[in-house]
Amino acid sequence: MKSTSKYLREDLLKLSPYKPAKEPCQIKLNSNESPYDLPEDLKMRIWERVKKESFNCYYDPSCDEVRQALAGYLGIEPDKIFVGSGADEIIYDIVLAFAGPGREVIIPVPAFPSYETFSIISGARVINIPLLLEKYATGWKWSLDVLKIKKYFKKDTPQVMFICYPNNPTGDYFEEEDIIELIDGFNGIVAIDEAYYEFGGRTFINRLSDYPNLVIIRTFSKVFSLAGLRIGYAVANEALIEEFYKVKPPYNVSLFSQIAAVEVLKNMDWVEKVRRKIISARENLKTKLEGIPGITVYPSSANFFLCRFEISRDYVYQKLLEKGILTKKPEGEGVENTLRFSVGTPKQNEVLIRSLKEILKGS
Ligand SMILES: *Cc1c(COP(=O)(O)O)cnc(C)c1O
Repeated sequence: MKSTSKYLREDLLKLSPYKPAKEPCQIKLNSNESPYDLPEDLKMRIWERVKKESFNCYYDPSCDEVRQALAGYLGIEPDKIFVGSGADEIIYDIVLAFAGPGREVIIPVPAFPSYETFSIISGARVINIPLLLEKYATGWKWSLDVLKIKKYFKKDTPQVMFICYPNNPTGDYFEEEDIIELIDGFNGIVAIDEAYYEFGGRTFINRLSDYPNLVIIRTFSKVFSLAGLRIGYAVANEALIEEFYKVKPPYNVSLFSQIAAVEVLKNMDWVEKVRRKIISARENLKTKLEGIPGITVYPSSANFFLCRFEISRDYVYQKLLEKGILTKKPEGEGVENTLRFSVGTPKQNEVLIRSLKEILKGS
């Protein structure tokens, strides 16, 4: 044990540091990023604006211009939007404001790891509830164990619940009625993470008027292709949005990120092209993956696929890496022997398919 461990909070001793893979690769499919960088002229427009700003001064702490632009994109009032340094910061703010010591956070798992990690850091107790997985005539389906989740609902102390929609790492939506049933019976904040909204099109934003305790999480890291600039947002009713300002770091979003987000939102034609290209590549990739024996492909409404292998996933992961393709090994109950990989460009997807065929044939 390192000598400084005795200074660490006891409840954090078991936490392992989050260190995303940094293996060198030609095709990076491990983080669900967009495979398309911003076009050069759009980058130049961002830079032309950025360079006129005073780097020595703090920039807008409430991201007014971004919220105004998002209001147009979402068709909602700017006061119902809060902007953070990535959706990750939004998740942090939620658990800091609404979880913490003595509180509980309910997470249907497998899910995005930040929900659990940040909840623990906030001092809250985490309740992980496994998803159900069943095969129907239409294919595999992951669903919420509504009965089991509701058994953990408390009437006396407020709780927090995260629902990822569509779910990372499993890839698809849960039933809308199941989520509504959960929200209806819940005493606390329900956070619906719609990081992949643009690839599937379903949202709970239009339910905000029914539920004062609902918050929607979105990001610029996926279809908007700005993962490197760290910018995300929350949508909720004004009163709930006000609470975010109590826990946020004062100047949470850099001037560069704010300006980039605004300029990308002015170029929705480009975003729409990226969106269509990724969706069409996803459908193509799905058909090809399903044609490879030894792989179970789960349905996806996002920009990635979760696949289960008959042979060892560590072997497939390593062999793909040797061919220059970096994928992700999801952790937790239910995702044993699976890999998750993002939808790349059509060319990258071809290399992936060719590589998988070789690896599975040679095993
Ligand atoms: C990628 C992702 C995010 C986005 O995180 P950022 O911090 O905005 O990059 C949020 N939630 C889920 C489920 C994700 O997969």
